[in-house]
Amino acid sequence: MRILIKKINLFHGFTNYILKNHFSIFGEYLIFAFMDYPSKLLTEIVDEIAKLPGIGKRTALRLALHLLKQPVEQSENLSQSITKFRKEVKHCKVCHNISDKPVCDICSDQSRQQNLVCVVEDVRDVMAIESTGEYRGVYHVLGGLISPIDGIGPSDLTIDKLLKRLENQTIDEIVLALSATVDGDTTNFYLYRKISELAVPPKISTIARGIGVGEELEYADEVTLARSITNRVPFEKSIKQNG
Ligand SMILES: [Zn+2]
Repeated sequence: MRILIKKINLFHGFTNYILKNHFSIFGEYLIFAFMDYPSKLLTEIVDEIAKLPGIGKRTALRLALHLLKQPVEQSENLSQSITKFRKEVKHCKVCHNISDKPVCDICSDQSRQQNLVCVVEDVRDVMAIESTGEYRGVYHVLGGLISPIDGIGPSDLTIDKLLKRLENQTIDEIVLALSATVDGDTTNFYLYRKISELAVPPKISTIARGIGVGEELEYADEVTLARSITNRVPFEKSIKQNG
């Protein structure tokens, strides 16, 4: 009997420990399992956060409960930043990159080659190319890619603005730097056709596609390998590129 009482006490101690130390995690799982939110305000914030791409209700709930544990100032700063960003951020009227000013720093920089324009899908591509420190031209941000499946046509992008820019500005070369996907290729082809129809078309080039740095040949897919062989470069140029 004494042993049994001891065992019951041990069990109670264990459950108390779990409840005291892991209540929040335990609570989260319980709430999630039944989806019966104890508060209307919690339901609202979870629904709003879950509208963001890649965030399900479970993550939304975790983020909402995290905010609840932080000082209220943190939530105020977050909501102010979101509102300010959404209301005040601009798109450069020349290249359509995200900017705080009507014309972005890249377009305003006269030390950059204004006659060389790199066409990209969105701001993330501008950031990626800028981080290489190798490109000294300017950009044109399309705001997406032509995608018939998703119902995105040329008029949904800034293609007309690019064509106007080419008519009104002296641009010697256009670099098409779009993703190597079906949508990227469709957009490349559309742009190539439209730009070629201009009275004085600029030179049109595209970024090289081939074997990635550090990638072994046997693991490259056939299309990439075929492109790498077709678009081979003189050895001296490859040393310069790698160095
Ligand atoms: Zn700009």
